[in-house]
Amino acid sequence: LKRDPNEPEFHQAIKEVLESLEPVAEKNPHWIKAGIFNRMVEPERQIIFSVPWADDNGVIQTNRGFRVQFNSAIGPYKGGLRFHPSVYLGIIKFLGFEQVFKNALTGLPLGGGKGGSDFDPKGKSDGEIMRFCQSFMIELHRHIGENTDVPAGDIGVGGREIGYMYGMYRRIRNSFTGTLTGKGIAWGGSLVRREATGYGLCYFMEEAMKSIAEKSFQGATVVISGSGNVASYAAKKAQQLGAKVVALSDSSGYVYDPEGIKLETVKRIKEIERKRISEYVKYHPKAKFTEGYSNIWSVKCDIALPCATQNELDEEAAKTLIANGCFAVGEGANMPVTPEAVKIFIKNGIIFGPAKAANAGGVATSGLEMAQNSLRYSWTFEEVDTKLKSIMVDIYKNTSSAAKEYGHENNLAMGANIAGFLKIADAMYAQGT
Ligand code: NDP
Repeated sequence: LKRDPNEPEFHQAIKEVLESLEPVAEKNPHWIKAGIFNRMVEPERQIIFSVPWADDNGVIQTNRGFRVQFNSAIGPYKGGLRFHPSVYLGIIKFLGFEQVFKNALTGLPLGGGKGGSDFDPKGKSDGEIMRFCQSFMIELHRHIGENTDVPAGDIGVGGREIGYMYGMYRRIRNSFTGTLTGKGIAWGGSLVRREATGYGLCYFMEEAMKSIAEKSFQGATVVISGSGNVASYAAKKAQQLGAKVVALSDSSGYVYDPEGIKLETVKRIKEIERKRISEYVKYHPKAKFTEGYSNIWSVKCDIALPCATQNELDEEAAKTLIANGCFAVGEGANMPVTPEAVKIFIKNGIIFGPAKAANAGGVATSGLEMAQNSLRYSWTFEEVDTKLKSIMVDIYKNTSSAAKEYGHENNLAMGANIAGFLKIADAMYAQGT
């Protein structure tokens, strides 16, 4: 940690994992001698590059691009690309580190990596987004490949951006391979990939709630932060499972609709008009918009699904949720709940689904997209959805049994860290240094 003193998010992610691994280290002293713990927190490769691009006025802008190839012990590096002004090396390292464990939990042969840029897509024209994505790929293409490193989307990178990047990759390499996931259905994409993280989150939480407390989404009131890819499909699946989703947000604030959020309106605002969530009240006058995204946790609910960004739900918010009767919290985003808040949830017996397990559905379906690309074949929506559901149920079972085996029954945060670690540590040890 001393080596990289200015990367608080990375430190936070490492500390959380290493604390849970103390009982594992005690049982496996040979891993300490083999340096597995130290090797696990050091990325195998870190790439930083400049991304010059022309804006609509013909002025050349320069952003910084990153790809951190964290660990490839069990498969090619795999993880998304994030375009957001808050991106710097520490954010990409924290996300890459988390990704290693998450990918191991899916049961698929996927290593972990992450990348992105401090480019802000907000307010940019389609042409500017395209030129940025093309310039980003002109450098990134050297470092990725279907058997080396397979990027996907994340914050600020959806179907449109993947399209522009894949188009440039294909031209430069003169090769049509599955090197990016999240592709369009007509050009190598998988059905269900778009929905996968949000749907997977609900499948995981449904299984956890049923097994731990005989509860479910049926009849529950749900609050979800964010209104992007993960949030909107988590909302859709929660509604299909019988819940009423009453609030969604973006970085400007949140909307509360007592009659239940209408997802067609959110889709129109976010994907077609590309405007702010506050527009929702224009279509539904009974709904209310409140500025400030963190206040969303004051809305009374049974189940909370933070699906926006890291550290968005703190100790104060955790106490408010519990006081309002919330019984389950599932992390759709990566590390959205602060460590203090996680401790409060666990201490109070709240069913807590940690990101590494609960939001692994996206990367799992990316793994299924890679499999279909290799087969040069595509499965139906039902086939992929059934596989996703069974992967999420297995992740719950493995996470829950690791927690039990190490003496922390129902502490799924601990269980996810342990189950993911065991698989990677085993592979690293077997492969030597
Ligand atoms: P999107 O860009 O589609 O949506 C992000 C949402 O979160 C937007 O509503 C955005 O609001 C809000 N948001 C982003 N940054 C902030 C911030 N700093 N403060 C408040 N709100 C913010 O991203 P995704 O839905 O793909 O990703 C959301 C989370 O899920 C991330 O943590 C990501 O790492 C994680 N994740 C995503 C996966 C995927 O498959 N896409 C897979 C696994 C995890 P605004 O538009 O105002 O910025």
